[in-house]
Amino acid sequence: MVIFFQKAKNNNSGFELYNLKSTIREIDQIIVKYNYKRIIVQFPDGLLGYVCKTIVNHLRELKVEIILAGDPSFGACDLPTHQAELFKVEAIFHFGHSSFAFSLSSWQEITGITIHYFPVEANVEIRWDLISKKILSLNWNSIGIITTIQHTSILNQAQSYFNILNINVSIHKEGQILGCNQNRAVYLAGKVDGFLVIAGGNFHASPVVVATNRPTLRYDPFNLEFKLFDDNYKNSYLKQRYAMILKARKAKNWGVLLSIKSGQFPSDQGKKIIKLLEKAGKNAVTVPMYKIDPNHLINFEHIEAWVINLCPRIATDDYVSFRKPIITSRELLVALDIMSWEHFINPKIRLDSSEHLLMLET
Ligand code: SF4
Repeated sequence: MVIFFQKAKNNNSGFELYNLKSTIREIDQIIVKYNYKRIIVQFPDGLLGYVCKTIVNHLRELKVEIILAGDPSFGACDLPTHQAELFKVEAIFHFGHSSFAFSLSSWQEITGITIHYFPVEANVEIRWDLISKKILSLNWNSIGIITTIQHTSILNQAQSYFNILNINVSIHKEGQILGCNQNRAVYLAGKVDGFLVIAGGNFHASPVVVATNRPTLRYDPFNLEFKLFDDNYKNSYLKQRYAMILKARKAKNWGVLLSIKSGQFPSDQGKKIIKLLEKAGKNAVTVPMYKIDPNHLINFEHIEAWVINLCPRIATDDYVSFRKPIITSRELLVALDIMSWEHFINPKIRLDSSEHLLMLET
């Protein structure tokens, strides 16, 4: 999930926040190359203003018939595949994210509908002067830098800026982070004192300290704000998760929440979870949903605990909205004594894969 802000304290304002020139150029090339006549376009909420208007108008000028996806999209995991099939379009144009960890190649092959991602570059000035002051105050000699897709093009500026200050900079691949995937940071964890995460809000930075065991400084380029996620943050996060696992462990009747969103994890993982629960003497039922609504889930009175096999942030960030304990599939392994807590807090991660950190380990 990428969080976009339209209003910001940074000098750039309103429509200037996004650089659409290269996006429009790319759209033109794709329309000419594939000769598309009918497509569905999708934007995350933060891009539904100026960006959506400009792109929809541009596509109209190109005489392309457009279906505008109306449901919210929370990430590249959340594409309008059902609508695309229903409206028989030739392609999905998704703006604001890259494919990164979500491959839908088999769906594309079966349906013949092609997916195109347009990340949409942010046009905000990165205040390296403010950032370097902060990094120096933390006495870090080496840093790893990661960011959300809309800022990855500015990461090359960092190298030269920090070299002057004798601070080593490491960036793995394009340096991208997702709320559910910190692989680019984990790869660098052994060789840096801390991480700099350039992203709006806390959503992307907060899991980095947990996944890497390195302090993480978040710089919000829209609001020019910093936040340090340190050991205190990590320990209180882990304490909360452990308490949740202990609560869930007592449950006899479980609901296994599966997402039917395009990229949110395969149902065969759901079957595996059911088997594990049944082997442990629990009752378990599969509950597929499009949008997880905690108020609706209250009605399933007999379910005593939920385990999710979908966006992990539903359990880790939104747990307060649920009346019953809710844990991730990886946390379930601890609840069922299949994995020790010590192993859990030092996760083995298959690097360079599209595996999500909180998924069930095989
Ligand atoms: S699974 Fe969750 S965190 Fe990952 S991209 Fe989707 S919405 Fe974002």
